[in-house]
Amino acid sequence: MRPFQKKFSFLVITFLLTFLLLGGCNPQATETKSSTPPPPPSGSSPSPTDASLPTQLGSLVQLVSKTEFVAAGSNAYVPPSSAEQEKFRTSLKELLADRVPQAMAGLTDIGLDLVQFTDTGKSSFYLIREKADKNRGWGITAINLKGSKLVIEAPHTLFDTKTEVEAAAFFLSLSAKALLIAGTHRCANTESSPCSGTTGVCGSDEPHRITDAAHSMVQLFHAAHEVFLDSDSSLVAISLHGFASGDGDPHAFISNGTNKEFSADDIANRLTAALKAQTGMTIAAVSCNDGNKDARLCGTLNVQGRYANGSPDACHTSVPSTTGRFLHIEQSLDLRRTEGSPNQENLIKALKMVFGIKD
Ligand SMILES: [Zn+2]
Repeated sequence: MRPFQKKFSFLVITFLLTFLLLGGCNPQATETKSSTPPPPPSGSSPSPTDASLPTQLGSLVQLVSKTEFVAAGSNAYVPPSSAEQEKFRTSLKELLADRVPQAMAGLTDIGLDLVQFTDTGKSSFYLIREKADKNRGWGITAINLKGSKLVIEAPHTLFDTKTEVEAAAFFLSLSAKALLIAGTHRCANTESSPCSGTTGVCGSDEPHRITDAAHSMVQLFHAAHEVFLDSDSSLVAISLHGFASGDGDPHAFISNGTNKEFSADDIANRLTAALKAQTGMTIAAVSCNDGNKDARLCGTLNVQGRYANGSPDACHTSVPSTTGRFLHIEQSLDLRRTEGSPNQENLIKALKMVFGIKD
């Protein structure tokens, strides 16, 4: 090779290497980097120790809709051990205290990834999910340290169609503090949960399955719910569900986790009134807590609801009282659609009204 050819080849190789390192010609909608210090979650002060925290830019709704959750009948859910659950709890507490290196070390130990996710044009927050080579059904958790007082929960991934995607959209729209999405279809594993109640949703009438995050204590979903609610007594969990609506059904049955009657100030009654006002339709919603005899699907066996309402044994015991820290929303499919559904917009506006969240 002549000197000129040599020099030319060197230049071509250098150019190609630079091009590849910069990400090629077609950057993905979602990208992960670990080399540059990330921006802090919206509103929080920058921490010099965050330098090793990977950052990711993209659409959270798209990420959730593309996530492969553990499917019905697969028996592929792997329950975390007590030690893994404990490490998860400790790591979440570290993250809530903005001690990122400690949180990341704990999460890495149990096969979870922590990134600082920036939703395109919206907020920035911490996102936890399983490492790419694992799918044990451990779900998705997000924390926005400067978020509002809401914890958005979708325990019935895949089964309550679209609720996992809806939860991601609500986390963003309501600038919520936290997001919990269960990693399994409720009928994924055959093993029964010891928690009280039976259901026919997986075939014949039987106890709830361990993969049913709303009726099982062995999911990281419930562990996170406890950590969040214990961390700040002003936090309120919103559990999103879906039902197959028939003629004459409302768009939503709304409950505070009990089926007892309370005053108009009750959280479920306030949201019911706000949704009716927002839609201009008196049949938009039925409250489980204003004495309405048509109320059903009130979530009284939901372990997150029982915990939030102060049950001494959330797995087995419902309580007749409410702390106002839990909202259970059963929705028609129409309300759950996320692509510019006017009904869903009305629900978001009603929630903002009840919780004083500004646009
Ligand atoms: Zn449900």
